[in-house]
Amino acid sequence: MEKRILWDMEAEVVVVGYGLAGAAAAIVAQEAGVKTLLLERGKEPEGNTWISLGGISCPDDAGKANEYLKSLFELSHSVLDEEALGVYAKMATKNLEWLKQVGKSVGIDVSFREYGKPAYPDHAGAEAMHKWMTLVPRKSSVESLFHVLSSALASRGVRISMETRAKKLIQDGEGEVIGLVVERGGKDINVKARKAVVLATGGFQNSEELLRNFSRGYPVYYGGGPGNTGDGIKMAMQAGADLWHMNSLSCGIGVKVPEHEAAFMCALPAIHYGSQAASSWFFVDRYGRRFINELGLDVHSWNLVLDYFDPVLEEYTRIPAYAILDEHTRKSASLAMAMGWVQKTGYRWSADNSREIANGWIIKGDTIEELVRKIADTEANQGRMKEEKLKATLEAYNRCCEEKNDSEFGRAAENLRAVGEAPFYALPLYPCIANTQGGPKRNAESRVLRPDGEPVPRLYSAGEMGSLWGWTYEGGSNLAECIVSGRAAGKNAAEEKPWG
Ligand SMILES: Cc1cc2nc3c(=O)[nH]c(=O)nc-3n(C[C@H](O)[C@H](O)[C@H](O)COP(=O)(O)OP(=O)(O)OC[C@H]3O[C@@H](n4cnc5c(N)ncnc54)[C@H](O)[C@@H]3O)c2cc1C
Repeated sequence: MEKRILWDMEAEVVVVGYGLAGAAAAIVAQEAGVKTLLLERGKEPEGNTWISLGGISCPDDAGKANEYLKSLFELSHSVLDEEALGVYAKMATKNLEWLKQVGKSVGIDVSFREYGKPAYPDHAGAEAMHKWMTLVPRKSSVESLFHVLSSALASRGVRISMETRAKKLIQDGEGEVIGLVVERGGKDINVKARKAVVLATGGFQNSEELLRNFSRGYPVYYGGGPGNTGDGIKMAMQAGADLWHMNSLSCGIGVKVPEHEAAFMCALPAIHYGSQAASSWFFVDRYGRRFINELGLDVHSWNLVLDYFDPVLEEYTRIPAYAILDEHTRKSASLAMAMGWVQKTGYRWSADNSREIANGWIIKGDTIEELVRKIADTEANQGRMKEEKLKATLEAYNRCCEEKNDSEFGRAAENLRAVGEAPFYALPLYPCIANTQGGPKRNAESRVLRPDGEPVPRLYSAGEMGSLWGWTYEGGSNLAECIVSGRAAGKNAAEEKPWG
């Protein structure tokens, strides 16, 4: 095989994808004294890590974390690899320590701030689940993370090739992965990997084809990076990998406007942090019916609610859904925020939402009748919203507020505030995917597995591409898994015997 291939670039370990998973794998492989090359398709990294919130799960007790995380699989019935989960729970307790050490090695003093609470606080073991933001002076959490990891890659001498898109794995006659075909400068070239390849190319939240194949809901928009088009998943499939968790998404509820490619995340008062602030709003479907305790679910689970297809009406009745709100809520704070890829545009949602009303992104009616008319006139609604229905929903909701009891959906009494102060507004809302979890199945050593359970020789994966997580998800666990699986991939790839 070697004789027949003309190699244009060479390394011992080739890591594909410059997110946290790829960075962790490359740092660990190079630290083991192995020449490592990191490939990234974008001019700058185009995935999710560096636009995320940067929250990292670091449980304080591996046994309790294992019990808690296992209970999430009991809810979803997603495929569980108990051994891999056990190793994850143990290694995740060391995440902050590892980041601190990496920072120290390049003279950066890293500290952490705890935030949030477990997604399922009543589950056994929840008390061990802690999430942290990485902090270095004068930087946001995610900038801090990038600063530490990019400095560590540079200090260790990892070669980085940007604008280099991996297209295909090269295997020898026995199926061993010996390199890749990549596109660079408009040309396909061959990159030799003497020990192994680590795929850390993220998920497929920006691949319409994969989303249509493996998830539901339409239209669905993305909040994460455009570089995650499932390239690594396709490459691994072609090399013989099994797949898992393809139906598992981390999906928020957001606002998509034609002027911007990526979505804004919904930031209605109280939606994220359960505060009591100005929650004079509720959600309805395209017909004006309320359908959920709007504050009762974890922020990553909105696809599970919005992708409901009504087989009788033959449509997704909750895409778009609408937040119905009054003047009090409109004036209180931004209804959405630039989080994720849309941040790159520099757009700041106005504090009183006036700019977005002027843009036509928020629908305004001086009366409920006018609001209904304007919603019904939109292309997304096409006359489904009816005055009598929305009025009935509004009256029922306001009655719950008066009685301090949401008897139908169970929204907490402190979050019930009547929608009464004119004018009224509707904010169209869509499922907006932060990231996907599915991809090639991997084991606790980050080896990519075939359908018969045997590893594809010399092929590793890390991060959200082929993640351990099913569709019940604990916030902070993607970045945590990037570190755990990235470290394992880097270590084990570095320990392979070179083939040539
Ligand atoms: C708005 C937002 C907030 C989030 N907040 C959190 C949080 O607080 N905590 C948490 O745990 N998770 C969070 N997540 C999820 C988390 O960011 C991701 O799951 C995680 O960053 C994935 O990291 P990764 O290294 O696996 O992939 P990515 O960071 O997505 O990196 C993959 C890289 O591979 C590159 N690539 C793709 N294909 C190719 C190819 N063919 N050749 C070369 N390069 C390629 C991409 O351009 C990209 O740079 C958030 C996600 C979003 C969108």
